[in-house]
Amino acid sequence: MSDVTKVAVFGTGIMGAAMARNLLSEGMEVHAWNRSREKAEPLKEDGAEVADSPADAARGADFLLTMLADADVIEESVSDGVLPALAENGVWLQMSTVGEGGSGRLAEIASEHGIYYVDAPVLGTKQPAEQGQLVVLASGPEEARERSGPVFDAVGSKTIWLGEAGAGSRLKLVINNWIVGLLGVLAETVAFAKSIGVDPAKFLETIEGSPLGLPYAQLKGNMMIEEDFPTSFSAKLARKDAGLVLGTAEAHDLQMPVAEAVAARFDEAIQAGYGEEDMAAVYRAAKV
Ligand code: NAP
Repeated sequence: MSDVTKVAVFGTGIMGAAMARNLLSEGMEVHAWNRSREKAEPLKEDGAEVADSPADAARGADFLLTMLADADVIEESVSDGVLPALAENGVWLQMSTVGEGGSGRLAEIASEHGIYYVDAPVLGTKQPAEQGQLVVLASGPEEARERSGPVFDAVGSKTIWLGEAGAGSRLKLVINNWIVGLLGVLAETVAFAKSIGVDPAKFLETIEGSPLGLPYAQLKGNMMIEEDFPTSFSAKLARKDAGLVLGTAEAHDLQMPVAEAVAARFDEAIQAGYGEEDMAAVYRAAKV
């Protein structure tokens, strides 16, 4: 490795762009690739190089950091000479949410190319990503842990090492089931309050500060009351995560009717054209 750590960042959406900026501010070299190049271009002002192709971004990089929509997109992005282009002993930090099966599939691809694979999905959304305050749920080979530390420290406030690759994605699925379920019930509760003549703001005010009054419920509940959904995490990607949970539950012979019902609510909101709005837009399917 040269003195300056070189990181290829694939995906400069809401999360990837913010993470790339934090790597740059820690003095790392960032070579960004994004399908829609125009979304990566602004990173040049922060010192990033913007590459024409995934292989160009990866050439000689110490780390490949993927922050793309899902496992299929990631698999496609690394299919054309990317992994062999990394520096010797290159490490792949896979930080998107891809679930158990997705993580296993990508780990296999890494192993075919003799690349260290760290499964490291994150907890936290747009603002924590911008502030370098993500929580990294890392899992992967012992040899890659110490080296990955500075990259994770640049994008997050805490890294939890969980064991062999895949453990991070499994914990992330559990957390996402909690978040997606919470949003589904919150949407229905706000709609229910309105329909029986209870001011939903009074509901949020009453629970605030008590064990029931999660800050997250205040944040997303107010978005529902105002029916204004600026995107921190899109409804479309939340539905993708609900699908990952349900697919994994099925593979483990577990029925999850509540998660299925919430996923169906997300489907309704997406089919009505609100998939790019924040996940709180699931309220659009719940309201009368
Ligand atoms: P985003 O803003 O929608 O960005 C998605 C990225 O995936 C963009 O770079 C997009 O490229 C790329 N992409 C989508 N479909 C593609 C395709 N068919 N081919 C090539 N590239 C494609 O999403 P995000 O919120 O940053 O999320 C990225 C990952 O982090 C996801 O796995 C998500 O579940 C996870 N995550 C998100 C949050 C959050 O709160 N936002 C939190 C934790 C984890 P274009 O720009 O060309 O569309």
